[in-house]
Amino acid sequence: MKSTETKSVVLLHHHLKSLRLPTVAAECEKVATQAAADNADHLAYLLRLTELELLEREKRSAERRVKSARFPTMKTLETFDFAARPSVNKVLVAELMRCEYIDNKENILLVGNPGTGKSHLATALAAQACAKGYRVRFIRTTELVTALIEARDERSFLRLKGQFAKLDLLVLDELGYVPASKVGSELLFDVISTAYERTSLIVTTNLPFESWTEVLGSERLTGATLDRLTHRCRIIETKGESYRLQDAKARNNRAAKTVTNPVRETSTAS
Ligand code: ADP
Ligand code: MG
Repeated sequence: MKSTETKSVVLLHHHLKSLRLPTVAAECEKVATQAAADNADHLAYLLRLTELELLEREKRSAERRVKSARFPTMKTLETFDFAARPSVNKVLVAELMRCEYIDNKENILLVGNPGTGKSHLATALAAQACAKGYRVRFIRTTELVTALIEARDERSFLRLKGQFAKLDLLVLDELGYVPASKVGSELLFDVISTAYERTSLIVTTNLPFESWTEVLGSERLTGATLDRLTHRCRIIETKGESYRLQDAKARNNRAAKTVTNPVRETSTAS
């Protein structure tokens, strides 16, 4: 009897492996013991196991999507201090975390000075999109332009464009930090217009609209780029000075207080 049981368990594991159900294989015996203790019927047992398998699959594919999005550093909304950045509309950000803008093929533009949390917010929003099952890629704009220029004359250009075309959300970080060459601007425009109404874009930039011509070169191209980007677009402004600078100042102030306090204590004591 014992040996038949062992044999059927071995066979079961073999079948589960062929069927590619690793979580069912890992959990079936433990859940069986639990189901027996709970007096759960066969269907309830099967339900528990299939739920576990699905949960594990979703978790693994979300991890894969985060990996292929290639975030430079992971950031979440939990660590974003909204009080330090009052110009950022918390209600709008919460709405965007629902990712409906991706279904509606809308764009998000994050505008503000360096260090004001644009990449942080863009990463948090894009990571949420990964968790919800969307295909995402995060890339610095200069890196994208360099890759496009390098691939321009080869067949890899089409492959690269094909990869971008498969995305649901493309994050172009730091548009405008470095002026693009004429070719670079045209290639960037090509990516933006291909994405238009097909793939959502999140663009972070330190540039106000009126300065975009300086980066993209021609007024015609700037007009056409802005036209596509800002049609159906949510704008988040991260006004003010760098968060790290604010943080450093706050720390300095705290340090100054702890230095002055003992002095005051000494003078009252004397
Ligand atoms: P930007 O992209 O606007 O130049 P970052 O998003 O890279 O700025 O922010 C710079 C650093 O400061 C990052 O480490 C980021 O996590 C942090 N930071 C910026 N704003 C905030 C904020 N409001 N709350 C918490 N951390 C912030
Ligand atoms: Mg940034």
